[in-house]
Amino acid sequence: MMKDRRKAIALYSGGLDSTLSIKLIQNQGIDVIAVHFYTGFCITETKRRRGEKKPDGTHYMNPALKYAAKYGFKLEIVDISEDYFDIVTNPKYGYGSNINPCIDCRAFMYKKAKELMDQFDADFIISGEVLNQRPMSQHLKAMKIIEKEAGVEGLVLKPLSAKVLPPTIPEKKGWVDREKLEGIVGRSRKRQLQLAKQLGIDEYEQPAGGCCYLTDENFARKYLETIAVENRITREDLYLLTIGRHFRLPTGTKVVISRNEGEGNFIKGLKNKYWFFEPVGKGAVAIAKTIEERALTDEEIKMIADLVARYCKTDENGKINIRYSSPEKENIKGLVEGQRLQEETIESWRI
Ligand code: SF4
Repeated sequence: MMKDRRKAIALYSGGLDSTLSIKLIQNQGIDVIAVHFYTGFCITETKRRRGEKKPDGTHYMNPALKYAAKYGFKLEIVDISEDYFDIVTNPKYGYGSNINPCIDCRAFMYKKAKELMDQFDADFIISGEVLNQRPMSQHLKAMKIIEKEAGVEGLVLKPLSAKVLPPTIPEKKGWVDREKLEGIVGRSRKRQLQLAKQLGIDEYEQPAGGCCYLTDENFARKYLETIAVENRITREDLYLLTIGRHFRLPTGTKVVISRNEGEGNFIKGLKNKYWFFEPVGKGAVAIAKTIEERALTDEEIKMIADLVARYCKTDENGKINIRYSSPEKENIKGLVEGQRLQEETIESWRI
């Protein structure tokens, strides 16, 4: 049966490129459902979920939610974090410059988009990707691998680069007029800015790049350190890498200390699972995790209290009492005096 209107599923980040792509396709009379995937490693969304605030005191907003509302796009937010662990720890196509498995990640998102295509009776997928804009996943060879892996060959239209890419099914079938699409290549944003003016996009998220923890070199360093020291990484370990200051004691025990109130609240929520440290007074809170399943030694408890004291309001002698408790099942509690550690020691423990 012939459809009156065709429908597309759009991968939507809230950034300018994906916003423009949706507009270009909507302008051709196609219904678009914008889909935003939450991987568990989206920086803004992770901070928003934890209730953290920006340095100016305002709350973080999910850019996809914000701009879909502003431009009237239908939006679905899909949480893929549950299945994403294997993509990060065991990517078939390896990592980019940090621990970003972009090819596997995009293929996974397209697979999920294909499922949504079937669910919403959509005809094709659109994406704001621009040919040769990003090194790992946006050159032609990578794009082909990604589509093949996801089983969506010919179904993904990239409106911003369509004219320089092989025609896709929606173009060949005449659902979309290829001539009205763009042929942008590379990193310059000049044409996108012109298009934004033409299409009435007067506000948008600044170019992505700082939006994924997996492309962050500090995150990658902490990830590789965990694998090197502990010989494995768990799902919980991986999510812990997104918060706090990280330290490794000479005994191998890891300590994570909050940097702000939002992180403090999040860490307090983990106190049943890990050793937990909090000052009697103002300051940061911390959790600690031994490599082997064992209790902390008294010596370690004192080391951690001294470390935590560095991030607390201590007395004039650099001292503050620190409460500690074990994970719930071990039921150990106590109070220990923390004495601010020397910076040199702190730096030698910092990951
Ligand atoms: S930057 Fe992050 S979210 Fe984007 S493709 Fe790479 S791994 Fe996936």
